[in-house]
Amino acid sequence: MRLILILGDGLNHNFLKAQGVNADDILLMIESLYFVKRKPYHRKKIVLVWSAMRTFAEELRQEGYKVDYRRADDPARTEVGFTDTIADAISQHKADKFSCLYPRERGTRALLRDLFNRPELSHVEVASVSDPFWYTPHADFKKWLSGRKSPKMEDYYRDTRRRTGILMNGKEPEGGEWNYDHDNRKPFPKKHVPAPPFCVEPSETVLEVMRFVDGIEGLYGKTDGFAIPVSRKDALEALNDFVVRLLPNFGMYEDAMAQNDAFGYHSVLSPLINLGILSPQECVDAVLAAYASGNAPLNSVEGYIRQIVGWREYMYHQFEAYFDGERDYHTTNALEHHTPLPGWYWTGKTEMNCLHTVIGRVLEHAYSHHIERLMVLGNFALLAGIDPHQLNDWFWALYLDAYEWAVTPNVVGMSQFADGGWIATKPYVSSGAYIDRMSDYCKGCRYDPKQFTGEKACPFTTFYWDFLLRHETDPLSVRMTQNLFGLRNKTPEDRDLIRVTAIQMREKIETL
Ligand SMILES: Cc1cc2nc3c(=O)[nH]c(=O)nc-3n(C[C@H](O)[C@H](O)[C@H](O)COP(=O)(O)OP(=O)(O)OC[C@H]3O[C@@H](n4cnc5c(N)ncnc54)[C@H](O)[C@@H]3O)c2cc1C
Ligand code: SF4
Repeated sequence: MRLILILGDGLNHNFLKAQGVNADDILLMIESLYFVKRKPYHRKKIVLVWSAMRTFAEELRQEGYKVDYRRADDPARTEVGFTDTIADAISQHKADKFSCLYPRERGTRALLRDLFNRPELSHVEVASVSDPFWYTPHADFKKWLSGRKSPKMEDYYRDTRRRTGILMNGKEPEGGEWNYDHDNRKPFPKKHVPAPPFCVEPSETVLEVMRFVDGIEGLYGKTDGFAIPVSRKDALEALNDFVVRLLPNFGMYEDAMAQNDAFGYHSVLSPLINLGILSPQECVDAVLAAYASGNAPLNSVEGYIRQIVGWREYMYHQFEAYFDGERDYHTTNALEHHTPLPGWYWTGKTEMNCLHTVIGRVLEHAYSHHIERLMVLGNFALLAGIDPHQLNDWFWALYLDAYEWAVTPNVVGMSQFADGGWIATKPYVSSGAYIDRMSDYCKGCRYDPKQFTGEKACPFTTFYWDFLLRHETDPLSVRMTQNLFGLRNKTPEDRDLIRVTAIQMREKIETL
């Protein structure tokens, strides 16, 4: 008898096909409080995962599969953790074979390794299959990486496009250019009218999970307003809706932010892709089909494909490749930033309007789009010298799409440069001027993005110049020549004022 474990982020038939599933297999799914209790997760995130798991289990049952769905969530049985539940299932089904998708979370891998080292399970034949959804298998990525002195996402992305033929015209990139970022940096027009996000009325299953999750202590946010697709059918509709309604403007406004718009033209599909409900390939294919039929411009299409085929894969593979026994993404702190994460990241109670607005969104929707993650939330933390791992825990707990392989390289690597440049070619830093150019947040703020000193000094601006001064002559300066160019206009008096103001701001960081 074979037991196939379906993890919460493995909700796709193709993962089962890759394991040669047949009608005699028992498909084990575990809703585990063990995972939920690890962090103060956003309630909507837990609702998403458990509702999607229950919905997938029901789909499988209707197709005739034998599903053993266990809820290791009885408060009286919390000591019965995730691995004990697997051990119970193996024993009850008299299973002598066990199979699962190679877990993406390192912690889950360790738990399973420990489980199958137990003497009473030595008779069980264990198999794990690699994830068929990556465009590049990890072993091939390692080959690509080996011997490269300074690997870059851009090189990986181009090589993948050449290899797969995605958006290629023979040997040339479609349209003659690899990158249309120059068309993709527009702020929203003055009278921007937000496009409403795709919403789904919660099913009975979702409502039941919402009621249960409401009762779990130690979690964050509310379940109210949960409207994310959890079934395959709704997920496909969400993808179609994105392609038809939002993709045409996606590229142009990819980096735009606005007080009245939490989602812009972004897809909000990452939570579904990361759980396996949608595959990256079907998202890319849908976008390519819109381009082929003349319904989406190349800058949007290339912009989206770069994110999925480029950044998403590069993050996963570089995260995996980083661990070598000595290097560890969970402890690295190349810039030695140790300031504790300000308490207002958990409440939104700050006078900085950009951060107040974006944090409010995260608390409400468990989501904010990429540029707000990078250039508002991450930018502030990097400039202020916040501990990158405290920031990582914050993102990991609160975002719908945050799973170890995705969140950690993005936060610790891309946004905080704490890996010393393993992922990013330069620190992503900017002053308040960038936020002012790309949003309307500064208009409603008590600070002034142009001021670096005085009562109205914008913390982004002061910390930005202070960051540049701190790194003006150290090895990081080589990566920031463009930014450092801006320092040439700062007089010795300005430099002193910046340093002093930054010290004062750091001292009262909790009340900024
Ligand atoms: C500080 C920080 C933390 C982040 N944390 C996460 C995270 O926990 N989980 C996560 O999936 N993404 C994360 N990202 C990447 C990116 O911000 C999100 O994937 C994106 O905002 C998801 O929203 P969307 O689906 O509406 O994106 P869209 O803009 O509509 O679509 C782009 C798609 O490309 C993929 N993608 C793009 N960039 C990345 C990237 N850098 N890493 C992984 N996937 C990418 C996503 O699947 C996303 O759906 C993070 C980025 C930063 C800067
Ligand atoms: S002035 Fe500074 S703190 Fe205020 S919204 Fe603009 S960038 Fe943010």
